[in-house]
Amino acid sequence: MTGQQPPPTIDTSRPHPARMYDWYLGGKDNYPVDEAMGRQMLALDPRVPVMARVNRAFMHRTTRWLAEHGVRQFLDVGTGIPTEPNLHRIAQEIAPEARVVYCDNDPIVLAHAAALLKGTDEGVTEYLQADVRDPDAVLAGARATLDFDRPVALSLIALLHFVSDEDGAHELVGRLLSQLPSGSYLVASHATADFTPEESRAATEKLKAAGVTLALRSREEFTRFFDGLELVEPGVEVPHLWHPELGEPVPGQDDGVIPGYGAVGRKP
Ligand code: SAH
Repeated sequence: MTGQQPPPTIDTSRPHPARMYDWYLGGKDNYPVDEAMGRQMLALDPRVPVMARVNRAFMHRTTRWLAEHGVRQFLDVGTGIPTEPNLHRIAQEIAPEARVVYCDNDPIVLAHAAALLKGTDEGVTEYLQADVRDPDAVLAGARATLDFDRPVALSLIALLHFVSDEDGAHELVGRLLSQLPSGSYLVASHATADFTPEESRAATEKLKAAGVTLALRSREEFTRFFDGLELVEPGVEVPHLWHPELGEPVPGQDDGVIPGYGAVGRKP
């Protein structure tokens, strides 16, 4: 979008996670302020674009796994700017009747939501503008499309590290899961400072100065999001090692640490 006038609701005075992520993925829906901060992150760790791709590939494989295990309803919060293939494409390739609700709080995602709504005739794709820090609003919006008497896969992929403890990250996940029936799943991935503490601290400080919260969590803190759930094998893993057989490896994924975790848990 460089050189174009942004729509009025898009705040280009500070970087936004959705647009920085789009920049890492080589997308066009970002602004100079996002690229500038993205470059600062790259200066701290040049593997950030590989991490973004690894995370995207984690979404692909977990969605495939869930659809192959009979899940037909998906609630994806923190969707991001559409990037092919989006979650519904993967789910509906396996189960054309799959129903998918996307949700994000950034108006730029809403501006591109039409690309998320091109699903199969048999299935449904919907978009909801809501903030995960208001879980009841997310649930109320999702209920319009999803049947909460049947299992739902709730995906919070690369989302929770933007939600602080002060904003009740663990409590809001608990609230969302409490409304979903037995047989539902939580899918999450999360950045951590466990492997690269120095770079992580510097990144957190830079983002904070630009108004972006980055709440990196340890393995133990990440695992706590799955309290009360049965972790699917292999449990909490670095994202590219979660069922690698379900997709193609991301170039560069094995060239160093990917400082993140991913897991899938089933509600008993
Ligand atoms: N899940 C996607 C995108 C991750 S980027 C993927 O893994 O590929 C993180 C996304 O979370 C961004 O789109 C950002 O706008 C969104 N987000 C951040 N804080 C949020 C909040 N409080 N409520 C809803 N969405 C949020």
